[in-house]
Amino acid sequence: MPACLVTGRCDDSGAGIQIRTIRGDDGLRVIPQQFTGPEIAIDIATHRLALGGKTAVNHDRPARRKQGCEIRGLCVTILHMHRPLSLHILPFVLILAGCNAPPVSPSLASVPFVPDSGSVAVRCGTLIDGLADDAAENRLVIIRDGRFERIDSGEAPPPADLPYLDLGELTCLPGLINTHVHLADIPERASDYSVYYRLTDTDNARTTTENAEVTLLTGFTTVRNVGDYFPQFVYDVRDRISAGNALGPRIQAAGPYLTIPGGGGDMVLPGYDESEIPAALRTGVASTPEEFEDAARRAVANGADFLKVMASGAVFSFGIEPGSPEMHQDDIEAVVKVAREHGLQVTAHVHSAQSGKDAVLAGVDSLEHASLLDDEAIALVAEHNVTLSMDVYNGTYTENVGREQGYPEIVMQRNFDTTEAQRIVFEKAYALGIPITYGTDGAVLPHHMGGWQFGIMVERGMKPMDAMKSATTLAADHMGMPDVGAVEVGRLGDLVAVRGNPLEDQEVMKDVAVVIKGGLAFKLPSE
Ligand SMILES: [Zn+2]
Repeated sequence: MPACLVTGRCDDSGAGIQIRTIRGDDGLRVIPQQFTGPEIAIDIATHRLALGGKTAVNHDRPARRKQGCEIRGLCVTILHMHRPLSLHILPFVLILAGCNAPPVSPSLASVPFVPDSGSVAVRCGTLIDGLADDAAENRLVIIRDGRFERIDSGEAPPPADLPYLDLGELTCLPGLINTHVHLADIPERASDYSVYYRLTDTDNARTTTENAEVTLLTGFTTVRNVGDYFPQFVYDVRDRISAGNALGPRIQAAGPYLTIPGGGGDMVLPGYDESEIPAALRTGVASTPEEFEDAARRAVANGADFLKVMASGAVFSFGIEPGSPEMHQDDIEAVVKVAREHGLQVTAHVHSAQSGKDAVLAGVDSLEHASLLDDEAIALVAEHNVTLSMDVYNGTYTENVGREQGYPEIVMQRNFDTTEAQRIVFEKAYALGIPITYGTDGAVLPHHMGGWQFGIMVERGMKPMDAMKSATTLAADHMGMPDVGAVEVGRLGDLVAVRGNPLEDQEVMKDVAVVIKGGLAFKLPSE
């Protein structure tokens, strides 16, 4: 195979040039390193980049090469020039200007990558942008340097300098947002909770990393991780993703569950003495407002982006039943006080109507589940502009698989008691105009089933476009992340695509074909 080379001169003072991508006829490759030196040579066949006659890099991404690549098919994108352009670098710039390659397809990004650095032109057969009430037909979406730069008519020619993805048969949406997941957790543990006592750091790191990757590839480019028994692994994967060293969504993490002893977030099990519970599992356990304040401060110090209180009993617990309070209003107020000091939000796990009222009056920003709220509690939620995150699908999943997987009977009963009741609250809350963000309780539900909830939301009365907004703009607004959630000029280039029209058939959301985050492609249509 012939080696294809492009050569040019950088600033010969040695000030240097940073190159982000190299584009050949086999697609776009990400080269995050910075290079300095007067001479630059890129060998597309070997992926070696030579500077000043010395080989600087042996790029380790696997290549999908074609025979007979041409020099005109090779371009580089300059991320940053350390000095103003000078005559010394003119020959190099001329090579760039003369590059007239036909559009190439984007390549899949892989670890390590430079987050939010991608550039791509995407033609969408249909575009749901997260803002408009109607979908638009045939749009050309330009993402440059990680952000949406332009949205043109689909008739416009794609820019010659960007990789091009023709999704003329697909519907594009903003990168999806799930406001209720637990990335360190999986459903199978409900069969035997004592497994939590024996999990190693390696187990936890692997589970969290895998769940983050699956979540991204399912189309969710941003999530709220509403507590975990092992929050440090969620912080770790959050930070590795944002450094480009792991695949996954943008993550807001709540840290540990803030919960009473034996409460919905405390892994106390029948037949086991409390002394058997590893201390690492109980960092959020507290009994008084003072202890909750301390636990909240610890969570913030350790890296929490917001706080989660377990206000009432839980379905997946052996403690107090979901319909009864666990924390008191003053316990929740103590947590809200700490959050406000740090400019953070608080969300409350709530099934019971009394807990819903206590949490709203304590000043929380949102309620999770909200399954058993009475009309008085729903009215209070509306009056205080509190947002709901309602996992209205997973009750069906638990009902379908729980017995066969050996879930405890108490869990099955609690699931039954909260499933239809929650769907009725959902209908009432939506009719009142209460904001409801998309949240599946990923971990009760397998993480690859993130898109399975849209259907039932529409079935229970939500307009299809509102269901799409619940997982895009509405969620982004609630999370205080105005940079994501919509295909809008200036926002981060997070975009997914599905086959079919999700406004007519929400089943298509179960199988996201394309995932682009920050302009980098993480999933592309299979050939
Ligand atoms: Zn949950």
